[in-house]
Amino acid sequence: MSAPRVRFAPSPTGYLHIGGVRAALYGWLWAKQKGGEFILRIEDTDQARNTEESVGIIFESLRWLGMDWDEGPEVGGPNAPYFQSQRLELYREYADKLIASGHAYRCYAGKEELAAARAEHKLRTGQDHGFRFQSPWRERTDGDATQKHVVRFKAPSKGVIAWDDLVKGRIEVDNATQQDFVLMRPNGLPLYSFGCVVDDLTMGVTLVTRGDDHMINTAPQILMYRALGAEPPQFAHMPMVLGPDGKKLSKRHAAVSVLEYRDMGYLPDAVLNYLVRLGWSHGDQEIFTRAELVELFNWEHVGSGSGRYDQKKFLHVSAEHLRALPHDELAKWVVPFLAERGIEVTPDDATLLAALPYLTPRASTLIELADAADYFLRDAPVFEDKARRKFLIPENAETLRELTRRIEGASEFTLEALEASVKAWLEEADLKMKQIAQPARVAMSGRTRSPGLYEVMVVLGRERTLERLKAGAALAESGVDLSA
Ligand code: GLU
Repeated sequence: MSAPRVRFAPSPTGYLHIGGVRAALYGWLWAKQKGGEFILRIEDTDQARNTEESVGIIFESLRWLGMDWDEGPEVGGPNAPYFQSQRLELYREYADKLIASGHAYRCYAGKEELAAARAEHKLRTGQDHGFRFQSPWRERTDGDATQKHVVRFKAPSKGVIAWDDLVKGRIEVDNATQQDFVLMRPNGLPLYSFGCVVDDLTMGVTLVTRGDDHMINTAPQILMYRALGAEPPQFAHMPMVLGPDGKKLSKRHAAVSVLEYRDMGYLPDAVLNYLVRLGWSHGDQEIFTRAELVELFNWEHVGSGSGRYDQKKFLHVSAEHLRALPHDELAKWVVPFLAERGIEVTPDDATLLAALPYLTPRASTLIELADAADYFLRDAPVFEDKARRKFLIPENAETLRELTRRIEGASEFTLEALEASVKAWLEEADLKMKQIAQPARVAMSGRTRSPGLYEVMVVLGRERTLERLKAGAALAESGVDLSA
C-alpha cells in the first residue's frame, strides 16, 4: 500500500470545533505514521460565512495544536491553490466533462417547477418525504447554456453503492434513494459535495476522514468518482463527539473551539491526547505523548460508537501532561499566563523554576499554575481579604515574630533544617503546627492554600521569607484593615 494522502477540509466558520479536529487528527496521525501527506484545504465557497479572519483562526488553531500540514495554504504544494474559491475554473471544467460524457446535464427548471413537482408528490403520496425531482431536462440537450441553469448529476435509480468504511464497516446505500442532485449552482459555484470530489480527486487524496454527519454525502460522491472514471478514496467516518446529555457537543455543553482550550491553559498535547482517546483505545492506557499516538494509532481500535465529552477526564489528562513536561519546557508555556496577570518573567527565571516542582502536583491547567506561582514572583504577596482578616490579627503577631527568629536561627536554609528548627520551637512552647501554619502561610503567600510551608520558604529564599514574615507580623499587630 502506498503512503496515504489524507486531507482536512474545514469550512471557515469562525472557530475550529474540537469534534472536527478529532476526525482530522486521526487522519493526521495515520499520515505521520505511514509517511504519507496531510493536506489542508479550505472549503470557502459559502461566501456569506467566509471571512479572512475565520481562515486565520483555522491556521492558528492547527499551528497551536502542532498539526502541521504538508500541502495547503501558506506552505503551498503541487496542487495549489488550496482555497476552493480559487479553484472555480476547475469545477466548471469537471462539470463540463460530466455533461460531455452524459453523466450530468444542464437543468433549466426554475423554482416554480420544482415547487409544483414537490406539491404534486405530496398530493400523490400524502407526504413530503421521498420526493425525487425528475427533471424534464434529463434527456434534453437543446437548452441554451447562456440561460440560467444548474448542472445536475444523472443519478442511477438501480443498484447499490457500497464502501468499506474504516470505522463503520461495510455500508450499502440503495441508489433508489438518490435523486439527480445538483453539482453546480446558477452562479457558477459548486455544491459542497461536487467541489469536494473534484478536489479530492485532483489532489490525489486516498483517505477521507470526517464526521459521520457527512455519511449522507458519501454515496453520491462515490457515484461522481465512478462517473469521472476514477476510484473513490477510502473513507473513515467518525462518530460525533457528544455532550454529557447525549446530544452533539455544542457550546451549550462546553468550550468547543480549539483556541478556547489554548486560552483556558491546556497544553496542545493534552488536547490531542484527550481527543484521540475519545474514540480510540490502546488497552487501558490513558496518557500518551504525541510520539506514542503517532506510533500506536490504528483504525482497528477506533470505536464506531460516539464518544462523550467529560470535562473531569479532560482536566485529568491536562494535569498529567503538565506533570510530565520538563520544568524548563513548562516554564515557557506558563510565562504568557503570568504576563496576563501582570507578572513579567522569562522562562529561565530561577524562582519560577524552583517553584514549579511544588506547584505541578496541584494544578490542572496553565492558568491554575500561573495563579499558584503568583506570590512567588511578586515583590509582595497580594493578600486575599478573607485570609488576611482571619489570620493576620494581633493575637498572631508574636507567633509570627517568634517564627521569624526561629527561621533566622535555622542552621541552613533547607527543608530539613527549617523543619527541625520550627519543630524544636513547637515542642518547647507546646504549640501545635496548625496554630502557626496558617498565619505563616498567609504572611508569605497572601492565601490559605499553598504548597508546604518549608517548600514555600525554600522557593522564596531566606531574605524574602524573613521579609514577608516580618511584614506579616507588623500587619497582624496593627490589625489595619487594608481593604478599607
Ligand atoms: N467543508 C466540510 C466541513 O467543514 C468538509 C467535509 C468533508 O470533510 O468532506 O464540514
